[in-house]
Amino acid sequence: MERNINLLEARPSFVTHLECSLTGELYPADQLHGLSAAGRPLLVRYDLPAIGKRLSRADIERRPTDMWRWRELLPVRRSEDIVSLGEIETPLIPLPRSAGPAVIVKDEGRLPTGSFKARGLVMAVSMAKALGVTRIAMPTNGNAGAALAAYATRCGIETIVFCPEDTPEINVREIAMQGARVWRVNGLIDDCGAIVGEGARQGRWFDFSTLKEPYRIEGKKTMGLELAAQLGWELPDAIFYPTGGGTGLIGMWKAFDELEALGWIGSHRPKMFAVQAAGCAPIVKAFDDGVEHAERWEGAHTVAAGIRVPRAVGDFLILRAVRASGGRAVAVEDHATLQAVDDAARQDGLLLCPEGGATLAAYRLALEQGWVTERDRTVLFNCSTGLKYPMPPAPRTLDRTQTIDFDSL
Ligand SMILES: *Cc1c(COP(=O)(O)O)cnc(C)c1O
Repeated sequence: MERNINLLEARPSFVTHLECSLTGELYPADQLHGLSAAGRPLLVRYDLPAIGKRLSRADIERRPTDMWRWRELLPVRRSEDIVSLGEIETPLIPLPRSAGPAVIVKDEGRLPTGSFKARGLVMAVSMAKALGVTRIAMPTNGNAGAALAAYATRCGIETIVFCPEDTPEINVREIAMQGARVWRVNGLIDDCGAIVGEGARQGRWFDFSTLKEPYRIEGKKTMGLELAAQLGWELPDAIFYPTGGGTGLIGMWKAFDELEALGWIGSHRPKMFAVQAAGCAPIVKAFDDGVEHAERWEGAHTVAAGIRVPRAVGDFLILRAVRASGGRAVAVEDHATLQAVDDAARQDGLLLCPEGGATLAAYRLALEQGWVTERDRTVLFNCSTGLKYPMPPAPRTLDRTQTIDFDSL
């Protein structure tokens, strides 16, 4: 077996403490935390000057490219706590026909469990293991539950997962197959979250809801670190990110700040586009209204299940990043999303998930509206393998016992 030195070498983490994202209140590292006292996400802080003295871009470039090459900027202290299933660096794939010459897709569908939820969950589960957690519960629209189930099972942590009853069948089954107890609930993801919260208050399990524990952001942050290294330490001009809870967008924004503090990138930032479905667009509404906190979106519906999130606890962090970047929150209709998935597959041979399709649809809208130009170097995020989602039927059959009309094939 190939041995990955990123997982074997003793490399220090430079975590110093955690900080409330709203009030700045400080919390000690190396203890189990949920939300801050103000009920907001906690952010992990590092001794960046010390990292800068010890580590250079060239050191990073010499290491294998998987996400553990960033160990010093991640919270796991001991190699033996890392519960890895092979978190590779995901490729950047151009979409010349369906999007244009300046557009690349970061294809996160290549990660373990087939989605970028693996980045966040490998980190959060590794930290839970390090901190002695034995039972975890989570509300999910599918992919997060699958990643939790896989990583937790791998290190012997018990998991109970609650999903909306119309969660894609394949997600419910992969969660069960990978060792979690999964329950279909007649409600949306925040209704599932209420059950998880109640159980946590009763001391039955640790609450792994999006942003309610501090380490998923750190895992998702590696998308930003990786992108910088892949693009020669030069960030793109625009990033389109399908936004549910927004962990990835918040994480990437944090990554860029940390990289700049290290002197590894300059002050140029991409315009961040938070992409939502028109049928569930609380962040877009808050963006348009000019407010920092989003109201719950009633009657949420969209084909893109991963971004059907009516309420995000990190709403203000998403909105701050989007506004500071000069980007926007953008809503796209489901028909535009499905058309984009179709175009990318039929014209460029890349099968996107619906959420990935939503970013292509939003890019097209942004071009039309003049929010980006065809020359802007643009990254779209495809967050999951397209193979998990329904595809149009392919009904042609051929009877090999009859004469075959080869001209018609
Ligand atoms: C979870 C998920 C998203 C949304 O990611 P957040 O970082 O939680 O906003 C988008 N697409 C897919 C396929 C997902 O599973």
